[in-house]
Amino acid sequence: MTVGVLALQGDFREHCAVLRRIGVEPVEVRLPRQLARVERLIIPGGESTTIGRLLVMYQMLEPIRERAGRDLAIWGTCAGAILLANEVVGQKQGGQPAIGAMNLTIQRNAYGSQLDSFEAPITMPIIGEAPLPGVFIRAPRIVALGQGCEAVGWLEDGSVVAARQGRLLATTFHPELTGDDRVHRLFLEL
Ligand code: GLN
Repeated sequence: MTVGVLALQGDFREHCAVLRRIGVEPVEVRLPRQLARVERLIIPGGESTTIGRLLVMYQMLEPIRERAGRDLAIWGTCAGAILLANEVVGQKQGGQPAIGAMNLTIQRNAYGSQLDSFEAPITMPIIGEAPLPGVFIRAPRIVALGQGCEAVGWLEDGSVVAARQGRLLATTFHPELTGDDRVHRLFLEL
């Protein structure tokens, strides 16, 4: 199984480090020919506007969309989750380039600025009973789930922080910044 990490911007190195720790050598994906080699793709956290623009510049947006609808398993963390959503609310006029493969509505920077970043435990039964440490950095909020998209992770107040639609997974937090690799393992099994 070949696992790629989109390496245009953001914390892709941290994702690669977790994959290596659990015995998977990742492929850093920047170009269509690298994308063609992978069966799974992680889209890291970072700045979704920047990653979106780079996806257009590197002619990656269409190939990822096409593979998303066909055979690629994709996991987006934070900015990556924003790029996967088919509706983004609360953004500046004109919107931003996105993959839009998941039926979910997401609100950018929903918890405030950098100073409002926080850590909180997450309940995610599909990876086990023990709560998952959640790191939220200028995180988006999942505000609605559409057809075929199910909630799989929650904060204590019941808000949804992880969603799954078949082979596609979105988390608004950063499992790659903790020592807990259960979401990475889950993704390898999707
Ligand atoms: N606030 C960023 C955005 O809107 C996401 C932040 C993150 O990925 N940690 O793209």
